[in-house]
Amino acid sequence: MIDQESLDAIRDGVRGLCADYSDAYWRGVDERKEFPEEFVNALTEAGWLAAMIPEQYDGSGLGLAEASVILEEVNRCGGNAGFVHGQMYNMATLLRHGSDEQKQKYLPRLASGELRLQSMAVTEPTTGTDTTKIKTTAVKNGDHYVVNGQKVWISRVQHSDLMILLARTTPLDQVEKKSRGMSIFLVDLHEAIGNGLTVKPIANMVNHETNELFFDDLKIPAENLIGEEGMGFRYILDGLNAERTLIAAECIGDGRWFVDKASEYAKERRVFDRAIGQNQGVAFPIAEAHIEVEAADLMRWRACEEFDSGKPAGASANMAKYLAAKASWEAANACLQTHGGFGFANEYDIERKFRETRLYQVAPISTNLILSYVSEHLLGLPRSF
Ligand SMILES: Cc1cc2nc3c(=O)[nH]c(=O)nc-3n(C[C@H](O)[C@H](O)[C@H](O)COP(=O)(O)OP(=O)(O)OC[C@H]3O[C@@H](n4cnc5c(N)ncnc54)[C@H](O)[C@@H]3O)c2cc1C
Repeated sequence: MIDQESLDAIRDGVRGLCADYSDAYWRGVDERKEFPEEFVNALTEAGWLAAMIPEQYDGSGLGLAEASVILEEVNRCGGNAGFVHGQMYNMATLLRHGSDEQKQKYLPRLASGELRLQSMAVTEPTTGTDTTKIKTTAVKNGDHYVVNGQKVWISRVQHSDLMILLARTTPLDQVEKKSRGMSIFLVDLHEAIGNGLTVKPIANMVNHETNELFFDDLKIPAENLIGEEGMGFRYILDGLNAERTLIAAECIGDGRWFVDKASEYAKERRVFDRAIGQNQGVAFPIAEAHIEVEAADLMRWRACEEFDSGKPAGASANMAKYLAAKASWEAANACLQTHGGFGFANEYDIERKFRETRLYQVAPISTNLILSYVSEHLLGLPRSF
């Protein structure tokens, strides 16, 4: 059961920290395309990024529900949790499938902030969403694996110490099921970069540090394999359910930020001698956005409860992400429209949040792929691919 009182305490704590990082801070970071190092360090030092690490490894031992509130509040306060969310969902993969040795080795150092596990490398340029066709291979050679291939859109690599990598360990034509034969590894980025791993930044529409990765005979110690060889796709799906639920929470934070901002402005801005919010053409899109954000929030709690109690969470995590990303995008549109021309001025922060929330229609999974999942897996409709 979700304990609302402790969630409220988390909200208050995160809001308190976020109050030190004003809109001007986030605007400046966005304009300069900088990584918000100071904010990320503060969040880490306050222990929020160690929320999901068990107490025995010096974390707080909290669940996905609590983690989701932390990220939601960052976005609701006008910030962007995209700089830190990787640590939360990658943690879920390591926690559920890592060995005791791996947990002992990394978790206390992640909890203290000495290390960051902010990156996960799945997407490839030639295969896109068709993940089982990935071409990056990891071939075992004695006490290590040799990795060759390419990834694209891999975020936060330049600001992380560790990365989870998905690679094929058995060729596709030699496995019974296409989802088998892929494995996940922990990559020490400091050792890897320049020794078989090349990182090329991708300039993009949001202030999101994301990269192309080139693997050329990168050696990874065999002890860095997470779980059983060949089962990586299943493990990564667990992480992806956490990721989708957390991103749903971020979208809910964005949605509430847009609704609040639009409502305030609609009450204050006077045109034709009355508040623009008195016109139903202005008020109704804001009201509609509010309804949709709050409805998406209900699905987010279902996903959190299922994930935290170890039940299959795929359906609700996907639906929560779908609903929340759609709701935040519609709230963004309503907010921009309410502000008229001022919505385009950087100093109002709307255009920045508008760009940031738009990403979640595409990443970490596009809207069409969620619709396809629901059609096939929940409704039993014929497979389309
Ligand atoms: C800023 C950013 C950060 C990212 N960070 C990461 C990261 O850290 N790690 C990582 O692994 N990936 C990351 N990604 C990649 C992201 O997960 C993918 O971009 C996303 O999953 C979509 O894949 P794609 O871009 O290859 O699109 P494609 O698979 O090429 O699809 C293109 C379009 O076609 C549609 N489409 C494709 N096939 C079908 C179909 N059968 N039916 C209906 N529609 C279809 C898709 O919905 C999409 O709209 C990031 C992307 C961005 C933009």
